[in-house]
Amino acid sequence: MNPISALFPENYEASRARFRSNLAHIQERWPDAQLSQHALPGDEDLTIDWIQSPATQRNEKVFILTTGEHGIEGYVGSAMQQRFIEHYLPRLDPATTGLLFVHAINPWGMKYHRRVNVNNVDLNRNFVWGTQGFSTAINPEYDQVNSFLNPTEKIGNLKIGNLKFYAGLLVLLAKMNISGFRHATLLGQYRYPQGLYYGGSDYQEETRTLIDLYRGAMEQYEQILHLDMHTGYGPRYQMSLVNSVHEKGSSAQFVERFNYPLVVAANPNEFYAIQGDMVDYLYDLWQREFSEKRLYSTTFEFGTLGDSIFGIVHSPRAMILENQLCWHKAESDSLRSQVVHEFEELFNPAADDWHAKAVADADQAFDGILEAEGYL
Ligand SMILES: [Zn+2]
Repeated sequence: MNPISALFPENYEASRARFRSNLAHIQERWPDAQLSQHALPGDEDLTIDWIQSPATQRNEKVFILTTGEHGIEGYVGSAMQQRFIEHYLPRLDPATTGLLFVHAINPWGMKYHRRVNVNNVDLNRNFVWGTQGFSTAINPEYDQVNSFLNPTEKIGNLKIGNLKFYAGLLVLLAKMNISGFRHATLLGQYRYPQGLYYGGSDYQEETRTLIDLYRGAMEQYEQILHLDMHTGYGPRYQMSLVNSVHEKGSSAQFVERFNYPLVVAANPNEFYAIQGDMVDYLYDLWQREFSEKRLYSTTFEFGTLGDSIFGIVHSPRAMILENQLCWHKAESDSLRSQVVHEFEELFNPAADDWHAKAVADADQAFDGILEAEGYL
């Protein structure tokens, strides 16, 4: 295996073991660095792991890198985190810079190659500001797409299934137009616990754990830089930096500032609106309680199927089938493996050339952001 592809872990346990083994290396320059875990309930050994350290002299700024909020996306996230620890950490200044690396926000999803957690909650719809954000009245338009997104029969013939999918999509597009359809689908919903983009009825344990970590960092440092790793959205061979809807600068300004070619804002024009987004939560927390400090938080979105019409249509198809498989099973093992394989390619592509370009893009973004934010 080539050295770049070797960054991408085989399974959750191997990824976590590698993450934990970084501690000794980090302690060479951050002697107070510590490894901590939050164990999820149940018999399984599933933990949210983090390595954290204060600066050695003055806590001026903190660098935060998080992965695996959408479990299956944690494989690419883990690769990027390891890349950062090996190539960029040696260039940060321990005297003034503290650290927080989080491995697998959603360890259950990472282990079982699902996006959601064990309660079928999309954690990136669970970071709502205030519990009224869990209201079942949010996104009433989801009712119109529910039966399309969440079929209730066993998976049978995929060719017939595809025809039904395209027919259903055309009907919905005629009724709602493309932006209405995307909004209803992607915003998040709080009514259908087995449905796609379900945001939960309360804060999930994973969410609470992360909120505590973010709050602690904002209390201790004057400047916060946070990078969160995701996959699945955007062009296949160009990672997108997705800024929060709360970030005031324009995407064009960030392209220049970071010397990075593709920056989009998470608003309906450039990306899509999201309820309960984790990065939005950081901005909310900052604006309400820590606005005298400096915050920049963003998402790396590594595209996989691409933004051609094939990719745009095939991504929801793969997600619908995987969720249907989870609840209603498939008529044969070969159908099952096909669905699992397509879902894996949507969030954790196997190709060496994809791995190489993804790491090169991450390098370019790390360089540009660290430089612009004064970390190098
Ligand atoms: Zn994601």
